[in-house]
Amino acid sequence: MEKLTQTARSTLRRLPLRGAFDRRSINQILDEGFICHVGFVAEGQPFVIPTGYARVEDKLIIHGSQASRMLRTLGQGIEVCVTVTLIDGLVLARSAFHHSMNYRSVVAFGRATVVDEREEKLAALRALSEHMIPGRWDDVREPNERELQSTTVLSLPIDEASAKVRTGPPLDDEEDYDLPIWAGVIPMRLVADAPIDDPRLKENAAAPDYVREYERR
Ligand SMILES: Cc1cc2nc3c(=O)[nH]c(=O)nc-3n(C[C@H](O)[C@H](O)[C@H](O)COP(=O)(O)OP(=O)(O)OC[C@H]3O[C@@H](n4cnc5c(N)ncnc54)[C@H](O)[C@@H]3O)c2cc1C
Repeated sequence: MEKLTQTARSTLRRLPLRGAFDRRSINQILDEGFICHVGFVAEGQPFVIPTGYARVEDKLIIHGSQASRMLRTLGQGIEVCVTVTLIDGLVLARSAFHHSMNYRSVVAFGRATVVDEREEKLAALRALSEHMIPGRWDDVREPNERELQSTTVLSLPIDEASAKVRTGPPLDDEEDYDLPIWAGVIPMRLVADAPIDDPRLKENAAAPDYVREYERR
């Protein structure tokens, strides 16, 4: 299993046993996540912007309008930090201090490049679509030239990254286990409700299985 090299900035200092640097652990979290938070500094001002993403092999893809400050800034190849967080549960301890969350998260560092080549750009857009709704791309109208031109796609190599994972019950102080206070985990997950038809839907456009049975895994 390939492990990423730890660097000064990707090494976990707090609870390093919860860390993982193998690509499989990192990829599983990236593939299940929905949004990332992109941190960068523009003219001395730090920004952290939420956005969609997809993983294509060992690269993280983000996209958006050509006019986006975030994309224009990142396209210059500046240092960026991207995080993805999944919440698996609320961890209720007997003491206020030991409350926690079960989570899986990834922090990645690097410099993004602009994806200009037409086929690569289309493949990246397809990956973004499939990451969110598997099966959708083949059903929809593909981007036309104008839409392609007005969309910026960036690719960030996932070479300097860490995963951190908390699982299991609360970890209370030994003397607190005798307290008559409920403790345990409230599991949490992302659940899709029933789809809502667009009011302008044509009669012959029934919701496909990937819509009616959508679930995040
Ligand atoms: C779930 C989710 C998915 C998204 N997916 C995409 C995507 O795939 N592609 C894409 O381009 N954009 C996406 N966005 C929108 C994204 O967050 C930015 O708003 C957008 O990229 C414009 O960035 P900008 O730096 O050009 O914004 P600017 O308009 O230049 O930002 C100016 C200021 O507006 C505020 N601001 C900007 N964005 C937000 C925000 N989301 N919430 C609150 N305040 C904000 C901040 O104060 C920021 O400093 C998504 C947002 C969310 C929440």
